[in-house]
Amino acid sequence: MPRHSITRLFNIEFPLIQAGMIWASGWRLASAVSNAGGLGIIGSGSMYPHVLKEHIQKCKAATSKPFGVNLPMLYPDIEAHIKTIIEEKVPIVFTSAGNPKTYTSLLKAHGITVVHVVSSSKFALKAQEAGCDAVVAEGFEAGGHNGRDETTTFVLIPAVCNTVSIPVIAAGGIATGRQMLAAMVLGASGVQVGSRFVASDEASSHIHFKNAVINTSEGDTILTLKQLTPVRLIRNAFYQQVQQAEKDCASPEALQTLLGRGRAKKGMFEGDLEEGELEIGQVSALIKKIMPAADIVREIREEYEALLQQPLE
Ligand code: NDP
Repeated sequence: MPRHSITRLFNIEFPLIQAGMIWASGWRLASAVSNAGGLGIIGSGSMYPHVLKEHIQKCKAATSKPFGVNLPMLYPDIEAHIKTIIEEKVPIVFTSAGNPKTYTSLLKAHGITVVHVVSSSKFALKAQEAGCDAVVAEGFEAGGHNGRDETTTFVLIPAVCNTVSIPVIAAGGIATGRQMLAAMVLGASGVQVGSRFVASDEASSHIHFKNAVINTSEGDTILTLKQLTPVRLIRNAFYQQVQQAEKDCASPEALQTLLGRGRAKKGMFEGDLEEGELEIGQVSALIKKIMPAADIVREIREEYEALLQQPLE
């Protein structure tokens, strides 16, 4: 397939996809990104089924362009989400954190384009075999849920491109046009950007969290909770408690108790920067400003297109 085939697959102008992030990407962000020529995605993992329905309907009213829904397969009420997605005729679904075999054929039978998020070539092949239209290959740098192999984007993208024939969307550590170009040179057909869009006006995350994102430096995020589901987050008081528990050889059950319920909401939505879980990627160290999502798309596109015209040396 030609390199920019995902623009045709999704019927979008520019191969930039906004990641579906819990507590950050509702209809406002998704529609703003789609209206700007990328692909906006509603992150359904933090939404009750009736909330997802409302966001899909508002997104449809706010844009005539295609948009998608991210469906983390760990979501407790996944069947209800799938019913809503089918009823509302959402054109594109990005599935993550689970087996792509489970729902891909059902979604595709309803005419939905299905993309699965993977962290290794092995899982990419499984996604292709399950009938997915494309994969997102997400490297170690990415925020939130992450793979166990800890393969960096720079290694993962060529490895996945060598393994599958469906389009590969690069994710993890991408926030600028220069990084996008690097990912495309590695063989990607497009990029998925999360952290940069958390620092947007339209993201539904708490302003304290957005400010924390633009104030991080290199080394401020870490991949932790590997005994449960590995997650990249900002090192804060909650992380220090996890670290101490791990030093004390806490069991997975004890870590689960420490994590409790709703930590992500507490940190990212309610703005509790000490006791909450603050999921963000390494690339936050490069993000310095909260901006309108359309300006983020424009800035990445302009930098990418300008660099394309320049010799590589
Ligand atoms: P927790 O178990 O700690 O808390 C559940 C949270 O999800 C609560 O804040 C709750 O909101 C909200 N929620 C939304 N719908 C439901 C539902 N049907 N049943 C129960 N709770 C619901 O989970 P997390 O916050 O860690 O994760 C929530 C979801 O997000 C999971 O499905 C997980 O897989 C996904 N996730 C996705 C990530 C990504 O990168 N895409 C990253 C991390 C998690 P309330 O407090 O209002 O009840």
